[in-house]
Amino acid sequence: MSAPQKEQKNTPAIALTPDDVIPHGRCPVCDGDDLVAYTELTFHEIIIPYQRCRRCDLVFMNPVPNQEWYDRLYGQAFWETKSAKAAAEKTQARQKQLIKELQRTDKLCAALDAAGCSPAPGARLLEIGCAFGLIISSIAEHYQATPFGVEPSEMAAGFAKTLGDVEIIAPTIDQLSETAPGPGGEMDVILFSHVMENVVDLNRVFAAIDRWLAPNGVVLMETPNSTVQNSTHIYHPYCFSQDSLRQLFGGHGFEIVSLRASGRPSSALIPRYLTLVAKRRAAEKQPAANGPHSGLDRRFGHGWRQTVKRTPLKFVDRILTGILYAPDAAAKQRAGDLAKAHLAEATGSGEDNG
Ligand SMILES: [Zn+2]
Repeated sequence: MSAPQKEQKNTPAIALTPDDVIPHGRCPVCDGDDLVAYTELTFHEIIIPYQRCRRCDLVFMNPVPNQEWYDRLYGQAFWETKSAKAAAEKTQARQKQLIKELQRTDKLCAALDAAGCSPAPGARLLEIGCAFGLIISSIAEHYQATPFGVEPSEMAAGFAKTLGDVEIIAPTIDQLSETAPGPGGEMDVILFSHVMENVVDLNRVFAAIDRWLAPNGVVLMETPNSTVQNSTHIYHPYCFSQDSLRQLFGGHGFEIVSLRASGRPSSALIPRYLTLVAKRRAAEKQPAANGPHSGLDRRFGHGWRQTVKRTPLKFVDRILTGILYAPDAAAKQRAGDLAKAHLAEATGSGEDNG
């Protein structure tokens, strides 16, 4: 699910008709009706408006393309990028992406540890949209746990199995929400790494979590922080902030154990990502009600990012980021080896499909 994000310019034209979209009369997270125009996205002459909910601060596509339309788009983008690049370029791009994923893995483990939610040895960890399985298999290795995944791309799922020993339990979250775990099959951690913003129907996501998360299990997620940077993108029906995430999880019976904004690993000064750990709320606790949201922190956050980008602060950021978050030699080596293995696997199997 996360793989095609950077490929917007390569994606082919695809028609979007009124039959392909779902209009929202109310906010899909808090059910509020105080919605204001936020921005517009232009994608191959298709204009997709975003609105912002003034109650919970959610930014969302309205109307939003339906899942079938996204499935078509993902299918086209996937084959396009698969065939367009030369082998060496592909391997290099893969290595870069894999290094980033390894850095993200360290950050996610740190988030679990800091929240006091480190999985015990033997725990079952599920990643939704696990792609090639690097993040979930690395986290599982770190905690001596067992990795599971949900992944729609057959090729990526194949890699996750053979290279990461990740057991794929369903191709999509919709299919996951329609099945139930067998005895002892519930998950101790369910991970969404840059995936929650990509889904169309958030209620389906929580239906799947409800079924598959063990009673004391935790949800771990990372998503772009729209308070400092617009994360509007053809693949992002939702752009979250801390407040909209609190509302989303609170509304589905969860309490947030930790929620942090940080730029790790790509910026020391701009907190571009939100990392959240949540667990089911104890029955007696009530979620705090949100008042109307002024949007001031959003204005401040975007202003801060512009300041860093347009002044010498950008050099400070670059230096600090290099010092704080540079990948180590072992990560580079591992990513390089995996990138080559991915390519070998890809050319050995499904190339005739392109
Ligand atoms: Zn709302």
